[in-house]
Amino acid sequence: MSPQTILAILLAATAFSYFFEQSLAWLNIARPRQDIDPRVREYFDPERYAKTVSYQKDKTRLALITASLFTAANLLLLAFGTFGWLENQLAASIGSQLRRALAFYGILYLAMDLATLPVQIYATFRLEARYGFNRTTPKLFIADKIKSLILSALLGAAAISGLVTLVQKMGPNFWIWFAAAAILFILLMNMFYTSLIVPLFNKLRPLPEGELRNAIEAYAQTQNFRLTGIYVIDASKRSSKSNAYFSGIGPKKKIVLYDTLIEKHSIEELVAVLAHEVGHYRHKHIIKSFIASAMQISLILWVFSLFAAAPALSLALGADHYALHLNLLAFAILAGPITSFSSLFSMVTSRRYEYQADAFAARTTSAAAMSSALIRLSADNLSYLYPHPAYVFFNYSHPPLLQRLEHLGV
Ligand SMILES: [Zn+2]
Repeated sequence: MSPQTILAILLAATAFSYFFEQSLAWLNIARPRQDIDPRVREYFDPERYAKTVSYQKDKTRLALITASLFTAANLLLLAFGTFGWLENQLAASIGSQLRRALAFYGILYLAMDLATLPVQIYATFRLEARYGFNRTTPKLFIADKIKSLILSALLGAAAISGLVTLVQKMGPNFWIWFAAAAILFILLMNMFYTSLIVPLFNKLRPLPEGELRNAIEAYAQTQNFRLTGIYVIDASKRSSKSNAYFSGIGPKKKIVLYDTLIEKHSIEELVAVLAHEVGHYRHKHIIKSFIASAMQISLILWVFSLFAAAPALSLALGADHYALHLNLLAFAILAGPITSFSSLFSMVTSRRYEYQADAFAARTTSAAAMSSALIRLSADNLSYLYPHPAYVFFNYSHPPLLQRLEHLGV
């Protein structure tokens, strides 16, 4: 295939992803319903319901503006061969392929982060603040930014170094070794995320003594669940939104409750939320998702290995020579539609897991407690009540509230 044809495909793939995602987002907010489902009226009064609709619209508008600017910039950079031009400039002064790859992605990452900084600031200090969610101070925002920059630089540099070295040493079979390393990394992340990464940004403390702990202890005993793994996180320092999650594999398993969740829910509801997380554990959802993502990564890397050595991809981006890191970028753009297809599979699975965890909580506590926890959580977080089914199908990792209530038989 000629570089010109590949460039045409790259431009088409970029434009296609943009139009596809934005049409779904538009469909989602085009005609909001006026009625409020009677099952949720206690928490969604007309004023709150109106707020959920305008929150969704504001978020969609911001995403539309961001995606439009991002896509326009990408199309221009591709059409003018700017990615290749950057590589040509770097090649003139940096001989080592590895250092050139690191410089190339370092520049791209910083440029993208700087370009989207105004959007990040607007989203946190205007949009989220307008709906009463934001609690991030400018100081915390900057500290978060610096920490995540360092973390991404370390992880990104490790991944790029690994890739370049393996391609140099292993040739076309590099993908097997890289997949093995990536899978090991995800496994370690699964095990140590809450104990190593989360403490960089938040404080975790064991659930303190008191009425809630007693109720949870009583529940945990009926389920033979070890209690030492239940933590409270100070999420309230960034946002008033609430949540809970399960993470970890084997002895490293942890259930994390947001302090904002504990503030707003009754003890019965909190036990139901905890039971939902125990449900994820009992159904082995973490291990199953881990296996699925291991397969997904191997597949994508194998497909990349077929394109990794083709000079036409580098030339299509405007370079005058072949470079592995340019091929990686071209592949990432081309694979956009493919990866969103495989993430579609994990979304479908994830929604099924949510129903199973809800059902587990209903069985071991009560459907009433689980459903009132879900309704209160959705009302507090201003969740959109009637998302479009097509939008849900492609974008939701958790089913919408009303479907979850239906599955709970409420
Ligand atoms: Zn869940």
